[in-house]
Amino acid sequence: MTGCGGRTTVVHDDSLVAYDFGPGHPMSPLRVDLTMRLAAELGVTGPGGLELVRAPMASADLIGTVHTPSLIETMERLGTRGGHDLAHGLGTDDNPVFRDMHVAGAHVVGATHEAFRQVWSGESVHSASISGGLHHAMRDRSSGFCLYNDVAVGITSLLDAGAQRVAYVDVDVHHGDGVEQIFWNDPRVLTVSLHESGRTLFPGTGWADETGGPDAPGTAVNVALPAGTGDGGWLRAFHAVVPQVLRAWQPEVLVTQHGCDSHVEDPLANLLVSLDGQRSTYGALHDLAHELCGGRWVVTGGGGYAVVDVVPRAWTHLLGIVAGRPVDATTATPEGWREHVRLVAGRAAPYRMTDGRDAAWTPWRGRSTTWLDQAITATRDGVFPALGLPPRDPTL
Ligand SMILES: [Zn+2]
Ligand SMILES: [Zn+2]
Repeated sequence: MTGCGGRTTVVHDDSLVAYDFGPGHPMSPLRVDLTMRLAAELGVTGPGGLELVRAPMASADLIGTVHTPSLIETMERLGTRGGHDLAHGLGTDDNPVFRDMHVAGAHVVGATHEAFRQVWSGESVHSASISGGLHHAMRDRSSGFCLYNDVAVGITSLLDAGAQRVAYVDVDVHHGDGVEQIFWNDPRVLTVSLHESGRTLFPGTGWADETGGPDAPGTAVNVALPAGTGDGGWLRAFHAVVPQVLRAWQPEVLVTQHGCDSHVEDPLANLLVSLDGQRSTYGALHDLAHELCGGRWVVTGGGGYAVVDVVPRAWTHLLGIVAGRPVDATTATPEGWREHVRLVAGRAAPYRMTDGRDAAWTPWRGRSTTWLDQAITATRDGVFPALGLPPRDPTL
């Protein structure tokens, strides 16, 4: 029990590191291992912190609530016999085929689905699946390192259980295109994605005028940020859009994806956000879950390819906030963890849990014509009216 008013959990098994595209692929499973070790050493997991819940394997039937039989059968076949199937996005540079890839993908789905079940059943007030957040996978196609869309399976399970208003917020540097597309025309699911513009980054979608299908106007919110956006701009955009649309939506449950590839040191993208900036959005989303959803909050990881320097610290901060016991930014990283990093990665680990930034930002005022403010204005003009919000009122 924490100040959050209920049990807080993280769904994890060490065997989730089997989700591994092989040496040289950016999404090294080491990032999950180093995160869970750092969180344990700082007391974020264990007694007084997050309780560890084992991650079940998802059945093909559960995966089939979102994905086509053809994708699932292909994943199973390639994972035992090898080969490739470009129509399903498998055997590409992004998604190379590996042994038992269906099992690895199904395990991530099982972990995230359990986090959703924990929160919806009331067994946990907040629950995290740090291996999850595979937001690019489409119904019939794997994409962008994402085999199955664990988040979409989790949201579908809430809808099947009777949820009427689910909100999904995705702060990964890439557009959350798979989750958006899967619920594009579903009036029960609001998807919000804050990302680097598709002009400069995969997958090339996520524009302000993408606002939902004909039966679900205003249920997709996209903020396409210019390359080079740092803490101040990223937080300004977040605070000019995310709280407003969530308050208008009044969700029963908040689902968030925390890809930390917006970081300045991430090798795959071009934003300049710091750990301290990322950490402040974790706190803001936590507060919104309590304000709007009675605390019901499902949390996933996502992208993040600075495997040693960024991901473990970012997601340990995230888990600390999920636990209701935030890690002070000035904390030193534990010597035992640094030694483990030296052993497995052959390099020095970061010494502190901060980048030394103050995560300051100034509010959007609606008058500036910088590229950043134009992007924010485009989003507000594009989607706020459909949500009953005045797009140009800077106090909202
Ligand atoms: Zn809480
Ligand atoms: Zn990403």
